Amino acid sequence: MKKIKFFKCVLCGREFKEDEITYTCPYCGQDGILEVYLDYKNIKFSKDVLLEREHTILRYFELLPVDNLNGFPPLNVGYTPIYKPERLSKYLNLKNLYIKDDGRNPTASFKDRASALVIKKAVDKGFDTITTASTGNAASSLSGLAASMGLITYIFVPENALKAKIAQLLNFGSNVFAIKGTYDEAFDLCIKSSEKYGWYNRNTAYNPYTIEGKKTVSFEIWEQLNFSVPDKIFVSVGDGVIYSGVYKGFYDLYSMKLIDKIPQVIGVQAEGSSPIVKAFLEKKERVTPIENPQTIADSISVGYPRNGTMALQFAKKYNGDFISVSDREIVESIPILGKLTGVFGEPAGVASLSGLIKMVHKGKIKEDEKIVVLITGNGLKDIESAIKAVGEPYYIDNDINDVKKYVIK
Ligand SMILES: *Cc1c(COP(=O)(O)O)cnc(C)c1O
Ligand SMILES: [Zn+2]
Repeated sequence: MKKIKFFKCVLCGREFKEDEITYTCPYCGQDGILEVYLDYKNIKFSKDVLLEREHTILRYFELLPVDNLNGFPPLNVGYTPIYKPERLSKYLNLKNLYIKDDGRNPTASFKDRASALVIKKAVDKGFDTITTASTGNAASSLSGLAASMGLITYIFVPENALKAKIAQLLNFGSNVFAIKGTYDEAFDLCIKSSEKYGWYNRNTAYNPYTIEGKKTVSFEIWEQLNFSVPDKIFVSVGDGVIYSGVYKGFYDLYSMKLIDKIPQVIGVQAEGSSPIVKAFLEKKERVTPIENPQTIADSISVGYPRNGTMALQFAKKYNGDFISVSDREIVESIPILGKLTGVFGEPAGVASLSGLIKMVHKGKIKEDEKIVVLITGNGLKDIESAIKAVGEPYYIDNDINDVKKYVIK
């Protein structure tokens, strides 16, 4: 009983069976990203099955495009905590605010959701080597989850990728290419290499299962909010796969008649790297790439968003929105989140919160709206930016009188 009904190209709309494609549309090439459509009438899933299941993305097995549970990494991916942060809510004058901390995944970012499913597919297809291009988190994610399975990985990152992420890669035993060039260039070299050497490719959006893996966050939000749907979800956006994945997850629930509305998803980009926001505001159907994306938020520094078309399509269909925020606003959000909730996010991880703060200040949010902010990466991934936001500790002599100078209460 096949769960996958067909794959549909975002550009030409052609439909394909699972055995007719590997990555993108054969007619449209690399921009012909494929969306997975499930055969909902063949799927039996109700929330009652969740009672006895483990707390990972596998609890939603029926809604994943796989036939069995063999071949998933043994690390616990997903079911990250959701919090109702009292002081952050007061600060923003909101009554129904939630944050979901995806920095709590095994390799400390949201990317583990996609990597877990891609690895399962690689195993199903008989590959022992997987590759990806990445600004850093997709790489450390694939690398760590592959290490848990003993699979080989080749990783392509821009040479300026952050130290913490490189450290993860090397300690997980990956073969790491730090290339002289941007993430967008690494993406192309990775595809060329996987074609030449026959590796399975996890590149975001290019591999349709990345979107399917990322959608699991929506099932969790639904379940963790006591099987309800929020009004708005704030998501940081680079390639637009998380954004689309969030919509896809709710689309699945809606198609299964488990929910009766789809939330509004608000994508947040950094001003210096915001081609999707621009296309959205200009009501374009395609994103025009930019040459030199500039932002402190490395994980969303993307000039050529690979899933821009699908993100715009979801936004159009379900009343989505996009907003851009400055690097200053992003950096300021790190200690706002930290001090008011105890959750530590990397710059891209908190850009979503910057977007919410900006919309609150613009008067675009009603105080009783149910809002979820996704924190997509842990703050320890980028301590340099985190230090920028807060300055220095008290440097003192080993002397109790020096302590006295700074005690506040
Ligand atoms: C990758 C990433 C994003 C953006 O996800 P896309 O699917 O590329 O839009 C946001 N935050 C963090 C921490 C990431 O690693
Ligand atoms: Zn096509």
